[in-house]
Amino acid sequence: MSPTEQRPKLAIIGIRYDENSSFTKGAADAPPQIRAALRSDAWNLTSENGTDLSDDSIFFDAGDIEPVPGSEMNVLIENSVYTLIADGLAPISLGGDHSVTHPIVRAFARKYKDLSLLHFDAHPDLYDHYQGNRNSHASPFARIMEQKLVKRLVQVGIRTFTAHQREQAQKFGVEAIEMHNLTPNLQLEFDSPVYISFDIDALDPAFAPGVSHREPGGLSTRQAIDLIQRLKGKVVGADIVEFNPRMDPLHITGTVCAKLLKEIAARMLE
Ligand code: MN
Ligand code: MN
Repeated sequence: MSPTEQRPKLAIIGIRYDENSSFTKGAADAPPQIRAALRSDAWNLTSENGTDLSDDSIFFDAGDIEPVPGSEMNVLIENSVYTLIADGLAPISLGGDHSVTHPIVRAFARKYKDLSLLHFDAHPDLYDHYQGNRNSHASPFARIMEQKLVKRLVQVGIRTFTAHQREQAQKFGVEAIEMHNLTPNLQLEFDSPVYISFDIDALDPAFAPGVSHREPGGLSTRQAIDLIQRLKGKVVGADIVEFNPRMDPLHITGTVCAKLLKEIAARMLE
């Protein structure tokens, strides 16, 4: 690489894993669909703030992680993501059920001691265990908070609190902005590095039907983008999870994931 060429700043890594999805599988198939939507000739790769993401100096594509017999998937995910961070890249992971966020945040916590976590979801994912599985996609934020991996967890779009999960949220000091309390023009503020975990079911199924757990009454794509663009803070990493291509016959949701990827990537480059 010549001195005039810039090293990539962001890394994309696909996670082909949905073994901790409780109701149905399919989130493991997301990474190639999101990549294809991102690179589609149907649109351009310039974000709304004018950042040209087609430049080779922006993304390093680290390929996909998938289960290897005899290896612990959580360890594989944590180490793969940490390798990118240690190389000076800001990773954005694509695909998988939401259980993948726990090992990813473990990797980020190795570098950032005061991480803030912004979590978009219909569900709080705070179950101590779900159907006996402590690694369930319904439990990652319980594990993250128990292990004190972040200094702050802010959840947006929630509309499925059970009594147990409300207790968990109180115990862990989670700041939940439930759908029914969402105000227009909300501006989220963070005074430490922000990691965005985006469960695509935070969006209303009218906008993003390709998810395993459709929960009506959610965010519009525009509301989610506005919250990302408006937030005050430095975004250092992100994941886009729970997109299930098997539930997406019109191929709408892959494009929504790629749109969010463009806007989150542009925020990370600011
Ligand atoms: Mn989730
Ligand atoms: Mn969810």
